[in-house]
Amino acid sequence: METKSFLKFIFIIAVCTISLKFAHAQQVWPSYPIAPVLFTSVHINDDFWAPRIRKNHEVTIPIAIQKSRETGRIKNFMIAGKVEKGSFCSLYPFDDSDIYKIIEGASFSLQTFSDPNLSLTLDTLIYYIGLAQEPDGYLYTNRTIDSTHMHEWVGKKRWEKDPALSHELYNLGHLYEAAVAHWQATGKRSLLDIAIKSANLVYNDFIGKQLPYYPGHQVIEMGLVKLYGVTGEKKYLELAQYMLDIRHGGEEYNQAQTPVVAQDKIVGHAVRATYMYSGMADVAAITGNQAYNDALGKIWDDLLKTKYYVTGGIGSGGDNEGFGEPYYLPNMLAYCETCASIGNVYWNYRMFLLHGESKYMDVLERSLYNALLSGVSLSGDHFFYPNVLESRGQHERSEWFGCACCPSNVCRFIPSIPGYIYAHDKSAIYLNLYIQTKADIDFNGSKTQIIQTTDYPWNGKISVTINPSEIKEFPVALRIPGWASGQVVPSDLYHFLPDANPPFTIAVNGVPAKYILKNGYAVINNSWETGDKIELNLPMPVKRVAANPLVVADRDKVALQRGPIVYCLEWPDNKDGHVLSLILDSTAKLNTSFNPQLLNGVEIITGKGDVAISTAKGNQTTVKQDFTAIPYYAWANRGSGEMQVWMASKASAAHPLHKPTLAGKSKISGSATGKALASVNDQEIPSSSSDHDILYYHWWPETNCIEWIQYDFDAKTLVSESSVYWFDDGPSGGCRIPQSWRILYKSGDKWIPVKVAGNYTISKDELNTIKFKAVTAKALRLEVTLPPAFSSGIYEWIVK
Ligand SMILES: [Zn+2]
Repeated sequence: METKSFLKFIFIIAVCTISLKFAHAQQVWPSYPIAPVLFTSVHINDDFWAPRIRKNHEVTIPIAIQKSRETGRIKNFMIAGKVEKGSFCSLYPFDDSDIYKIIEGASFSLQTFSDPNLSLTLDTLIYYIGLAQEPDGYLYTNRTIDSTHMHEWVGKKRWEKDPALSHELYNLGHLYEAAVAHWQATGKRSLLDIAIKSANLVYNDFIGKQLPYYPGHQVIEMGLVKLYGVTGEKKYLELAQYMLDIRHGGEEYNQAQTPVVAQDKIVGHAVRATYMYSGMADVAAITGNQAYNDALGKIWDDLLKTKYYVTGGIGSGGDNEGFGEPYYLPNMLAYCETCASIGNVYWNYRMFLLHGESKYMDVLERSLYNALLSGVSLSGDHFFYPNVLESRGQHERSEWFGCACCPSNVCRFIPSIPGYIYAHDKSAIYLNLYIQTKADIDFNGSKTQIIQTTDYPWNGKISVTINPSEIKEFPVALRIPGWASGQVVPSDLYHFLPDANPPFTIAVNGVPAKYILKNGYAVINNSWETGDKIELNLPMPVKRVAANPLVVADRDKVALQRGPIVYCLEWPDNKDGHVLSLILDSTAKLNTSFNPQLLNGVEIITGKGDVAISTAKGNQTTVKQDFTAIPYYAWANRGSGEMQVWMASKASAAHPLHKPTLAGKSKISGSATGKALASVNDQEIPSSSSDHDILYYHWWPETNCIEWIQYDFDAKTLVSESSVYWFDDGPSGGCRIPQSWRILYKSGDKWIPVKVAGNYTISKDELNTIKFKAVTAKALRLEVTLPPAFSSGIYEWIVK
């Protein structure tokens, strides 16, 4: 069909669709003891979130659609639907899910912004999805396009490889969530009907035939519960529980090592984990499944006690994109996938709805304002997949990723933020997040309007006006954030150092309020009438955070937090771009000020620290230096360079500045390009050839060939010695010490081998030094012959 006539056709369909708008909106969260106030009833009008939600609508969602078009993600549906010819044209079989996530996000966004063009684009995408669905409801473009040439992850039979990597059920989970969001936003059943047809097939296949294939990447559980919520069809709930209960006999990687009710530790892939726990909470809320609740409680405790980053990020390792050993929380190698932070918000919100305790909202708030928000640039068009806590300049945001789960997750998460602010149970209204808003809450048989005025997160003064439709007595529960009552996290993983901790205050209509503290909330029971005003003041001094000494990476280090915001030092704000050498002792005075010009307006922390410098004799000295810290979420918006969240509190934990060396002053180039080139002359000597805390340069995946790296000097220079420290990551890795190496110098246009005294050594775990007959050269080259079946790498190359 021609695009123009197709759009016309879609438009007619759009106009004719019967509107069921919001008819069953509340049922998306079925049967939780506490009900969220849906984001459709909450209007954010602040300077922090409102511009981000607008940017998500105007920049992020259009980019995601454009990139999906460019990368073949949309075309896959068109080919499967036989309106285009060709073979599967994107990288992964789970790429279908990005389209669903974008539709979900765009649907949410359409409830805030009127945008007929976007609405029409969704109709078009949904039309293609409908065409791609097989007659019996099966929907998975990779198989439908050509079942004889599928991706290697896909089984010959439907579903059979889902426990591994086919992602058939994963795609569908996102489809169901998108379908519910689209129906809620537009009242159109187009995508909902596709989802129902699919879910009926999955039900008949799995429950009808008792298929044993558990979802390899969880999310369908959450999607099915939403589908149950809006349709009232119990079989979708039954199917969600089935998908959870068939997990066993598999790997920790996707939480299938034991039945879910026997799990008590947080392990494996972090996104899969949080999605699964969210699904368990959903099912437990409806069925009252105590075994699920018990397991979730234990797993949550394990996360908070041993595996939670101070930024709220989760997942310490890239190998499994997930959790490592207890207390293993490396900073430069942190994974903290953006999707995992989003999943952590989903999970913790459900834990709050189940239990009504503020500690879950504390975790949600920490993840939201720090690790999650770091995942998208201020401009809305660049993204982080991992969100590290330390950088030497090797990290940069990307426009998009081959695996694009994170940007499409940002698309759908940002517009839903207003839905996390308020909640209510049968008797009380909860204020969970402090964000300037106007909300209309249908509660306890009448309507209550709540107007929140605040500059949070920069200021802890919050004014809440309560306008009930009639004079009414009910409790208002104000969350007292953990950070305001001296608790970093509800465990001993982190603690605030003993800085001043002024108490919070609450007044009602100008008079100190009577309240009780319950589950982390200040609960005010009052007979409310229109115009009543609560004033909550949460003082926001800068606080120093220290980690449990079992966290090796944070030993003798300190982080800064103010309100919910965790800070970092970044290169553009600090002298000569160096921050890793800074020492912040416990007596340093810390000042704050708001800079409206910087990074869209941020509160900065300034003070005086000490800079560690190594001396010629190998000792260290320090000099005083001003420093500026910015909110962590705002880093990497001004180019790449040094950044760190955890600053040294003792000289021994700092990376000292070095005196410039010949290598340090040279221009580096190599046969493999990349930022890691800068690591070879940074004067950081590793503790061994497999030290993963020190940056290295490598030629992987090249093997069995000659590669090189080169220093170009400013002027002709006399050189007579070279030392190199090889990277070798052992049996688990792809790099080994090289087969051979040699040094060449540049004479005219020619490279001439130097005349060495002795032999070139090739040893692990030490510097390999060779002296040679002095030459005067403009450039020196290190030439490496890679082993036959492995690559090689270098930590440091020193020349004298
Ligand atoms: Zn992701």
